[in-house]
Amino acid sequence: MCGIVGCVLKDGLAAPLTHQALKRLEYRGYDSCGIATISNGKLYLKKDVGKIDEIHRRLNFDDMPGLTAIGHNRWATHGAPSKENAHPHLDCKGLIALVHNGVIENFAELKAELEDRGHRYISRTDTEAIVHLVEEGLAGGESLYEAVLKAVRRLKGSYALAIISAQEPERIICARNESPLVIGVSEQGIYC
Ligand code: GLU
Repeated sequence: MCGIVGCVLKDGLAAPLTHQALKRLEYRGYDSCGIATISNGKLYLKKDVGKIDEIHRRLNFDDMPGLTAIGHNRWATHGAPSKENAHPHLDCKGLIALVHNGVIENFAELKAELEDRGHRYISRTDTEAIVHLVEEGLAGGESLYEAVLKAVRRLKGSYALAIISAQEPERIICARNESPLVIGVSEQGIYC
């Protein structure tokens, strides 16, 4: 199984800490990894197949800007290990990023429904449905929290999720069912 992490810091950079946390989760096994951050209303994304150190040497996770970051070590269950299938996954507009540990059992039904409504899928994962569901909630005027709450009500399966939006930069919304998820709070920030 993979691991997800996230943090919102009071100052400094969230990406290097997220990178370190992914290193600590390495022992669980993974085939790809990635990090998304938010800075000045913009979302930044770096992800690929391979080992964290090797990807970091090529892409440099530590120079990603922003106080807010989420990260993922993937152990593929739906869709081969590839850059497109690596997490975080983005919505159609590139404003929302999501990491997921677990398996969404009704992903095929959700995908058909979402593609009918015009969403463009990039990956072959079960996960991507969730970010498009959240996108619809935000487009309908909901807050990130409300949109995630509504989206998870549609899901069947196991999940630990961390989700960020460029429109609400200092916030990570988390949700879980069956997969474990721990929240931490310190003087310097909040962590999942
Ligand atoms: N089911 C998701 C995928 O295949 C998440 C896998 C995981 O927990 O790493 O991308």
